[in-house]
Amino acid sequence: MTAVLSDAPVSSSTARSLDAVALYRFFRSGEEETLALRGVSLHVDAGEIVAVTGPSGSGKSTLLSCLAGLDEPTAGTVRIAGERMSARPESERAALRADRIGVLFQSNNLFAHLTVEENVQLAQRLSPRSSPSPAPREIVARVGLADRTRSLPSQLSGGEAARAGLAVALANDPVFLLADEPTGELDGDTEQRLLDLLRAHADRGCAILLVSHSPHVVAVADRVIELEDGRIR
Ligand code: ADP
Ligand code: MG
Repeated sequence: MTAVLSDAPVSSSTARSLDAVALYRFFRSGEEETLALRGVSLHVDAGEIVAVTGPSGSGKSTLLSCLAGLDEPTAGTVRIAGERMSARPESERAALRADRIGVLFQSNNLFAHLTVEENVQLAQRLSPRSSPSPAPREIVARVGLADRTRSLPSQLSGGEAARAGLAVALANDPVFLLADEPTGELDGDTEQRLLDLLRAHADRGCAILLVSHSPHVVAVADRVIELEDGRIR
């Protein structure tokens, strides 16, 4: 297959949206075969927060990995701002991810031996993008950690570490933010603070997809997609 950078015209409606069409993901490990995604299609618009819920094992993390280009769906198509993310080499997926996507996990978003600011700097260096990114200090300030730029992750509270992780995810000013249980380890107040930051980022035109069980996350979402056994309910 040839690597065509834009194989679809980017109309204004797709310019800043995320689209997945008929995603399937089949896993085989040893004797065990799992169809983790069975034809999932979804659309997330700029400025929108979509929550993905569903029981453990329903395919939420698999879906997020396929959308982020961290995993390759067995079948189906993912488009990021009209550009195809699926069915192309990992190096091209990585370049597209660097340019457009921030990924936030429940934990382990930070390197332990680097300060908050250095973590953001490293994320920028590992993902050089075509247009200049904001200064690391500015990104750290945006998540309310201006006085923590030189702190190591071990010196942060749980809520501060979550916001520092968000700063890393936002390091390259992504158009799409994908997060897997981002508030899973936070208490009510710190969870709300992170959600306020996510809403502020959506208001700047980012499309956000959050995998979560939390009723607070579901409450702040514009739309909720429920997965069950690899399908949208
Ligand atoms: P969730 O995030 O909703 O808990 P997952 O997407 O992690 O669900 O998993 C969906 C299904 O796919 C589960 O049955 C899980 O065991 C299986 N699965 C996920 N990743 C792999 C993998 N790398 N190899 C084999 N099976 C996997
Ligand atoms: Mg999961």
